[in-house]
Amino acid sequence: MLTQDVQQLVGKGEMLPLMEEFYTIQGEGYHTGTAAYFIRVGGCDVGCHWCDVKESWNADLHPPTHVDHIVGNASKFADTVVVTGGEPLTWDMSMLTLKLKEKNMRIHIETSGAYELSGSWDWITLSPKKTKLPTQSVYDAADELKCIIFNKHDFIFAEEQAQRVNPNAILFLQPEWSKRDEMTPLIVDYVMNNPKWRISLQTHKYLNIP
Ligand code: SF4
Repeated sequence: MLTQDVQQLVGKGEMLPLMEEFYTIQGEGYHTGTAAYFIRVGGCDVGCHWCDVKESWNADLHPPTHVDHIVGNASKFADTVVVTGGEPLTWDMSMLTLKLKEKNMRIHIETSGAYELSGSWDWITLSPKKTKLPTQSVYDAADELKCIIFNKHDFIFAEEQAQRVNPNAILFLQPEWSKRDEMTPLIVDYVMNNPKWRISLQTHKYLNIP
């Protein structure tokens, strides 16, 4: 049970339920192959059935951690931070991004866009989910749109999302990991027929790194 003080600090984004933090290589999307410090924030109610971080969903399982502590750790390792989850926009990201910017760090976020955008970002990866569609604020600000392909209908969903996102966003299709053998050949054909899209693979899983 959190004390009222801690609840208030979490409410203001001065503390965040931290699930894990680690220095690794970005495996997916536009920045694939580049080193970054990942901050995984707990809490998500989007409910994707194929989610590979279901242990992130319950924020109560992850200790509220002061953003100064998170920023102090991150700045020892990297110039670039990727904030992911869970769904990081469950929380007010203003304080975390302010403190990271004070350290001159580049700040990326990976979000389903299910909640209004908060914080100030150098790169926004929007990965929309059918169960809880993105808010307009995230469609408008996204730098890349990364649509996960679990089945054939997901190509239709991806096209709908491409219509909604701002026109400058770079478009990626990524096979859901458990369906990669089935879906990757379909994505290859799709991208050749629809070259506005690019392929993203979860290269960190092939490399066996976090
Ligand atoms: Fe999992 Fe992300 Fe979907 Fe939340 S939005 S259920 S963390 S895949």
